[in-house]
Amino acid sequence: MVYMDNAATTKPYKSVMETYMNTGDDYYFNTASIHTKGREAARLLEAARAQVKGLIGLEEYDCIFTSGATESNNLAIQGIIEKKKRSGTTILVSEIEHPSIMNTLEAMKEEVRVKYIRTTAGGMIDLAHLEELIDEDVIFVTIMAVNNIIGSVQPIQEVARLLEGHPKAHFHVDATQAVGKIQMDYRGVDSISFSSHKFHGIKGIGALLSRDGGKLSPIIYGGGHEYGKRSGTVNLPGAVAMARAMRISGEAMKENTARLSRYNEQVQDKVRNLKSIHIHPGGVPHILNISFIGAQGEVVVNALGKRGIMVSTTSACASKLRKLNETLSAIGSSKEKIEGSIRISFGNMTAQAEVDQLCDALGAVYEEIKEVLE
Ligand code: PLP
Repeated sequence: MVYMDNAATTKPYKSVMETYMNTGDDYYFNTASIHTKGREAARLLEAARAQVKGLIGLEEYDCIFTSGATESNNLAIQGIIEKKKRSGTTILVSEIEHPSIMNTLEAMKEEVRVKYIRTTAGGMIDLAHLEELIDEDVIFVTIMAVNNIIGSVQPIQEVARLLEGHPKAHFHVDATQAVGKIQMDYRGVDSISFSSHKFHGIKGIGALLSRDGGKLSPIIYGGGHEYGKRSGTVNLPGAVAMARAMRISGEAMKENTARLSRYNEQVQDKVRNLKSIHIHPGGVPHILNISFIGAQGEVVVNALGKRGIMVSTTSACASKLRKLNETLSAIGSSKEKIEGSIRISFGNMTAQAEVDQLCDALGAVYEEIKEVLE
């Protein structure tokens, strides 16, 4: 099996699995227990927390461990808006956010006024439009670091600078497709969210780093874990394993970026000159979105699957919804290009031989379906 769906999830590093198992075995205690072993577990949790903050480069921020980016995004949106809604009601959001942002805001539409920041054909937010939209009623701005469908990298520092004059507006960044994959500067951002399983950690753990976690209403109430912001017995093995996955991914980032960029180029070279193929604008090396114009993406995904290659249609989350992908619509892609799109995503474990296999399979599938292509 050749796995090319790493934007959906990644295989955990072996050493991360070991860390998870060993921590679960040696430190199965509740971090909230006040006995000696509970305190030891709590110290380990704080070490993992410090490591995560340090690796992101936001040492002075609060780090709240969650079950993953979906929960972190919910906590940021609901938790901040609950605190700020008396001072304004406008929320600015890019058009290409993940459903965990879009659907949370949709659920709050009675309480807030959501305005969408336009996207350019290259998949970037339109900064001039953001500037037009920002006013004194804005309490929350949310823009992802890296788009999960095409891989475009958003100008986070430029947005942070633009928002400097609007201190009331909380700036949240969904960094799920960036952390562990590309170096980004998050200074000036008020909160960022991510999931461990996207960078070869295990599933069920993520975090929200917040400039001032104290100004956040909880969305899960209970025994007061995680500074009262996210109750429930903390997933200590997951947190320790996440810190490890983050460290390993960070150490190997330069080498992996260069290698994955070569893979990305190789696949593009394979299909670039074929009739009825469109390559969507990208950004990060690990995500490549290609359209087979006239075909259904699902047909291509299945044809590659028969050859043992796992890729995705637009995204694992959107594929069940059966509606035209929002990101591709926002960048002005045609219906045919959207319907015929597949997402190939590399991971740190992707090997050259697998990319060669993918290229051969893409060639074979193209021959197989070229009659239906426009
Ligand atoms: N945000 C982005 C950009 C994503 O790509 C994903 C997952 O695909 C999420 C949030 C949600 O992550 P999780 O499913 O781990 O909660």
